[in-house]
Amino acid sequence: MMIMYLRISAVAFPVLLLFTLFTSGYSFAETNNKSSSAGHTESRTHSNSLDSEYGNTAGKIIEAATGTHRAYDRLAYFTDYFPHRLSGSEMLENAIAWAEKELANDGIPVVRKQEVKVPHWVRGNEFVKIIAPYEKELPMLGLGSSVNTGGEELTAKTVVVESFDELEDRSDEISGSIVVYNQPFVDYGQSVQYRVFGADRAAEYGAVGVLLRAVSPNAMGHPHTGNMRYSDDVPRIPAAAISAEDAMLLHRFDQRGDPATVTLYMEAELKEEPALSHNVIAEIPGREQPDEIVVIGGHIDSWDVGHGAMDDGGGVIVAWEALRIIHELGLQPKRTIRLVLWTNEENGVMGGRAYRDKVIEKGELENHQLALEVDFGVFKPIGFGFEGSEEALRMLAPIADLMSPLRDMHMREGSYGTVDIGPLHREGVPIMGLDVETEKYFWYHHSAKDTIDKLDAGEVAECVAAVAVMAFVAADMPERLP
Ligand SMILES: [Zn+2]
Repeated sequence: MMIMYLRISAVAFPVLLLFTLFTSGYSFAETNNKSSSAGHTESRTHSNSLDSEYGNTAGKIIEAATGTHRAYDRLAYFTDYFPHRLSGSEMLENAIAWAEKELANDGIPVVRKQEVKVPHWVRGNEFVKIIAPYEKELPMLGLGSSVNTGGEELTAKTVVVESFDELEDRSDEISGSIVVYNQPFVDYGQSVQYRVFGADRAAEYGAVGVLLRAVSPNAMGHPHTGNMRYSDDVPRIPAAAISAEDAMLLHRFDQRGDPATVTLYMEAELKEEPALSHNVIAEIPGREQPDEIVVIGGHIDSWDVGHGAMDDGGGVIVAWEALRIIHELGLQPKRTIRLVLWTNEENGVMGGRAYRDKVIEKGELENHQLALEVDFGVFKPIGFGFEGSEEALRMLAPIADLMSPLRDMHMREGSYGTVDIGPLHREGVPIMGLDVETEKYFWYHHSAKDTIDKLDAGEVAECVAAVAVMAFVAADMPERLP
């Protein structure tokens, strides 16, 4: 994975500048009375420059978040009662209604919903089976947005390739076949290209269907779904994911010059009418500049398999609990902290786009100080990825240092799991993603295995602590981010 670590410590940064940046405007009883002694200034050379202003508060937040399993328990409840939250489903809208009610029960001062029109794709019945050299049904999942097989079973010889280059090399064999992409996992960014564009590329050479090796670094016999895309100038052919094991099996048949014949059947359908869904929005209004906003959140929709505990129930509950803990501690930052639970990240990002459109319409866009999303799993938190100006990155880096009671947290350039705030970022809003230890995330991602039992209550609580500290200090720091 291309993770560039950019550690900026107070030592590497002029102490005087930080002193100027962060010594005015905070208002905590426990910090007010120790802000301006010369002796204190000297001690900064050996410690974090935000310590004196926010160290105490950060400690309280971390203690409150990590002293409880509340986030994990809430996530378990959420995903036990509202699994399979695909856009257009009743389950998703039930989950949204529950979140709205519970946020109000938490005493969050402002809670509302925003209407969003979302694509309505339904899976229907589906199967894949090998019919030669012998008959065997394969675990499979149609890819999101895929077309169906026209009410018929689609039977064809397989051509198995490991890359788009190999597809091109064998382009004269493709017509009338089902192309199998047995692309070994490199990283998500690279391997997901086969899921998103594989059908289009194969259809160019006349393929009638596509099977995709699960986009996952491990092989445990299960397929991983996810969204795919068609362009307008090639025929739309059905596409489904199979397990890594089965893709490798089909590959071995092909390599022996004895390609398997398979039957694919899918009833998948994108409904003509979009469905009505909602973003959930909850706020702690700022005490001095309520019109300035720090957004935190995750996406409340999920795929229709598994429980969406990691993707992205965990992000939803972590951001929510961060807001709740700030509120519970009686901390009201200078700026507004706004929780947004976006709808339809998985197959449209219409929630993220509708949110951007609304804040532009209300003239709020320029007042967005920062947007932070949690959508890369809620395993052990290790830092943050940021996209914005270099100066803003320098201003935010010391906040990560406030989390040292948890562990050393990095602040780096570039972000993961920030799809819903991408539309804001393209309008100039600085964005951030929570970085966690991700090696297990893609074992379960978009599969039936994405359930709460894989998560650790202590790690989830640490994610809450990290997001709460970041959100609070970013909302309270004296300066606007440039
Ligand atoms: Zn997600």
